[in-house]
Amino acid sequence: MPTPNEILVELKKVKYPGFTRDIVSFGMVKDIEIAYKGVTVTLSAPSANAEAAAQIVEDVRRTVAAMPGIPAVDVHMEQAANAPKMAPGSHRRLVPGVRHVLAVASGKGGVGKSTVAVNLALAMRAAGWRIGLMDADVYGPSVAMMVGSDQRVELTPERRIIPLERFGIRYISMALFVNDETAVIWRGPMVTKLETEFLFNVEWGELDCLVLDLPPGTGDAQLTITQRVALAGGIIVTTPQEVALIDARKAATMFEKVNVPVLGLVENMSYFVSPSDNKRYDIFGSGGGEREAKRLRVPLLGQIPIDIATREASDRGQPIVAEDPQSPVAQTFMKITERIRQTLA
Ligand code: ADP
Repeated sequence: MPTPNEILVELKKVKYPGFTRDIVSFGMVKDIEIAYKGVTVTLSAPSANAEAAAQIVEDVRRTVAAMPGIPAVDVHMEQAANAPKMAPGSHRRLVPGVRHVLAVASGKGGVGKSTVAVNLALAMRAAGWRIGLMDADVYGPSVAMMVGSDQRVELTPERRIIPLERFGIRYISMALFVNDETAVIWRGPMVTKLETEFLFNVEWGELDCLVLDLPPGTGDAQLTITQRVALAGGIIVTTPQEVALIDARKAATMFEKVNVPVLGLVENMSYFVSPSDNKRYDIFGSGGGEREAKRLRVPLLGQIPIDIATREASDRGQPIVAEDPQSPVAQTFMKITERIRQTLA
């Protein structure tokens, strides 16, 4: 009979339905047990997509049965052992073709969450990752930062959304579909439901990482997204101020509630170095992010100063990592990327 490893190699031929990626690279194969009577393959349930799950079970059965010397094949589909505690009826879905989905969150608005999400996505791209960015912050400004207003979203013949591309990143925002007249109907609980569906209706293709810029806060909208999408981790953006830290704590609690690991805190607007005298000013206090990271037992991924060039670059639609990759702020984003890479590995 073949060894588990030989079976695993064979299972690499089984593609996730509709995608070019195989189920092994998705990490779906949990166990291969060889016994006298036959082989048992245990898979972790891929998604709420029952049709895809059934097809995968069938494909695995057929593939293994076709190997020489195998008397019988049994295929089990189980919920991941660390499956999150979810509300009844809710499902956590993988985004097919996407290796890791990271959610960038903040307890409150205005701390620079979108700035961090966009620049982090660009730094990951610069590090060679295939990156997608989804602006789930419908009324946030990150789209304005990245999109020229003349860009139009196209659909595939199957009416799936083709993401836009800039700086080598695929990105999409619900805000692209919202104008002043429709904005009203997008408010409220409907937004969350549509937003999650929307994410799965984008033709992302193959990505190493999809960065989700969550709406600010820790309410139902954020909770629903973090519950519905299979996230590799959350990143919390905060300023060093006590009020922001209290909210950062809430964001950590939110991720904990849905069993998503917090990869770390990013402290934004940490300090300001005056260009005139090169003196450092701790405008929002100092050490807050570090203390909070310790308290939450998560890494402090990086500290980003208040930086005029960063703000100006964003306003110009050329985020700092794209515009000046050698600048200290861009380099900090590169370091944050490296830390995230190590954690994900
Ligand atoms: P959020 O997404 O948390 O609401 P934004 O990323 O939109 O916050 O940032 C709010 C404003 O602060 C924007 O004008 C942005 O350019 C500016 N900003 C964010 N981070 C910095 C920074 N480190 N230095 C200077 N300006 C910043």
